[in-house]
This record gives sequence, structure tokens and C-alpha cells, in this order.
Amino acid sequence: MTRSQAVRSRDRHAAKLSELGSVLRGSLFERAVHHSSGCPKCARGEGHPLWVLNVGYPGGKTRQVSLRPEQVPEVRRALDRYRETKETLEAISELNQFLLRLDRDEAHEKEREA
Ligand SMILES: [Zn+2]
Repeated sequence: MTRSQAVRSRDRHAAKLSELGSVLRGSLFERAVHHSSGCPKCARGEGHPLWVLNVGYPGGKTRQVSLRPEQVPEVRRALDRYRETKETLEAISELNQFLLRLDRDEAHEKEREA
């Protein structure tokens, strides 16, 4: 990879970073709530589906947020956006690291020529 290829690729990635205000970290899972008595659905063993956002923190702590069904599509999009944003940041960081090493090596060669 040449310097100009790395810079172009980095700038393409950076241009993709948008809608940063709507990112959300965590994972989504569905679980069923079962009432102990007085609910015909639960008496039939069906239960009620409930969506939960699970967010992990350093030290193994987690927080769970129960969601209304109508919130799920937006949460899914926000989780995707977080993942894509993180991948893009990682790609930019790798390219900047490559450029850093290139700068160092070129400076080193100039010193030897002098
Ligand atoms: Zn029930």
C-alpha cells in the first residue's frame, strides 16, 4: 500500500462517519415472561415475549433494559450503527498507524542519506 492509497482509504472511511448521535452499544435478546396465575396465555404455556437490551461494562457488570416492541426496530438500527462506526474507527486507526510507520521509516532513510 502506498501513502496516497492509505490516505484515500482513510478519508473514504472518515466520510462514512455520520449519524453519530444515534449509536447504541449492547445486544438485543428476546425472552418470555410467564405469569404464575390468572393468565390464559401463560396457562397454555405460551408466555409473553419481551425484548431486552443487554449492555456490558468493564468488570463484568451488565445492565438490562426492557423494551417495548415498537422500540425494537430503532434499537436494532442503532446497534448496527454502533458496530459499523466502531469498525470504521478501527480501520481509520490502522491506516493512521501505517502512515505513522511510513513517516518514521522515510525520516530514517533521509537521515542515512544525509
Ligand atoms: Zn401471561
